[in-house]
Amino acid sequence: MKYLSTRGDATPRAFCEILLEGLAPDGGLYLPAAYPKIDAATLQRWRGLRYAELAFEILKLYIDDIPAVDLKSLCDRTYTEAVFGSAAITPLKPIAEGLYLEALSNGPTLAFKDMAMQLLGNLFEYELARRGEQLNILGATSGDTGSAAEYAMRGKRGVRVFMLSPNGRMSPFQQAQMFSLQDANIHNIAIEGVFDDCQDIVKAVSNDLEFKRRWRIGTVNSINWARLLAQVVYYFAGYFQATKTNHERVSFAVPSGNFGNICAGHVARMMGLPIDRLVLATNENDVLDEFFRTGTYRVRAAAETHETSSPSMDISKASNFERFVFDLLGRDATRTRELFGAALARDGGFTLTAAEFAPAAGFGFVSGRSTHADRLATIKRVWEQTGTMVDTHTADGIQVATERRLPGETMIVLETALPAKFAATIREAIGRDPEPPAALRGIERLPKRCTVMAADAAGVQRYIAEHCVD
Ligand SMILES: *Cc1c(COP(=O)(O)O)cnc(C)c1O
Repeated sequence: MKYLSTRGDATPRAFCEILLEGLAPDGGLYLPAAYPKIDAATLQRWRGLRYAELAFEILKLYIDDIPAVDLKSLCDRTYTEAVFGSAAITPLKPIAEGLYLEALSNGPTLAFKDMAMQLLGNLFEYELARRGEQLNILGATSGDTGSAAEYAMRGKRGVRVFMLSPNGRMSPFQQAQMFSLQDANIHNIAIEGVFDDCQDIVKAVSNDLEFKRRWRIGTVNSINWARLLAQVVYYFAGYFQATKTNHERVSFAVPSGNFGNICAGHVARMMGLPIDRLVLATNENDVLDEFFRTGTYRVRAAAETHETSSPSMDISKASNFERFVFDLLGRDATRTRELFGAALARDGGFTLTAAEFAPAAGFGFVSGRSTHADRLATIKRVWEQTGTMVDTHTADGIQVATERRLPGETMIVLETALPAKFAATIREAIGRDPEPPAALRGIERLPKRCTVMAADAAGVQRYIAEHCVD
């Protein structure tokens, strides 16, 4: 399998060439040259597989430059009961007639990002060892992504993580999760400023090409193709659990922000998994709901971006969205470049022509939005009716799934985080605290490892240079 860019760079690249990369050199995103199609016999054979085996079967269709025995071992080491809390890895739970929750949040940081990031940690270590190289991951986080990256990379050979976060602005639980890590290759840097200051520093350091090359700076953001690929697996796993035969169809409802999670659903559907509809749920930051209703994609200004009680979906633009639009446009790279390059820069958005937008429904997409009041009501209703506590992001998914579900439709809502991470809103909804998993009880009292620094890129660069020698 070779990879190409959504903006027209068709230099054929193998998987490991793009594994450690962010954007393609022309500013586009990497996609496989074609989606492998799964025939009926293969789908039947996959039905009985363990999660790690299923991951191997799917990954090997996209990865031909890692020997099969090595890839198998990477999958086996990643998707274990010890790391994800159950043999099923992503168990399914019914919450109403025809409505299921697929648990994706039982990994080390209690959010679905572990599903991909844990694999990425093992892939990075493998590929860096093979090349005899090192990588220094620099990132900015306001919570979920940073902790998932740190738990994936901790103790990995050849990798260091420098994670910037706004000093004092993460929840005590999130701080404890990250700052209690004692691994020598993990560096927490609390910046005196807000999240945007952290992001600006990452940008400034990444734009210093000389520094970037010299210290081998990389990232693990959600545009990474390997992360997206790892997420394709749980759509298959959810389908097999919700159905008895491969003649049945299901729909998925996905709490969405940067369009990474649901883009993996799009890929699974393109491969031939019998998915009827992909139901995209946003919170008050409804960039994507607006697009799927109208064909207009309009990036929001910072002042227009709301701080909500489902904060991991508080986005102003959706960084993976270009991948879907490229497919929607019949893979017209010239038009994709025009829209995501010139038009976004000039107008802050674009509107597709009626002919361009019409096929969107054929890709299964529908959308909806949810508000703080909806979240509170959904968390309360699901708790009272089923005894299941759901987090605020998952509640957005359940709300929109319930609104959109057709009679007889089997709908799987992806659970993207555990309620323990968002205790304040849970208290507001049902008047009691969520229980953190046993392994994390008392985590707030562990010793913390963190360096506080001014919002200054040069200072961060000095810190990195000083800590890059073993
Ligand atoms: C990251 C995240 C999302 C959004 O996922 P995307 O892939 O960005 O669409 C939703 N919920 C939670 C809890 C997350 O951490």
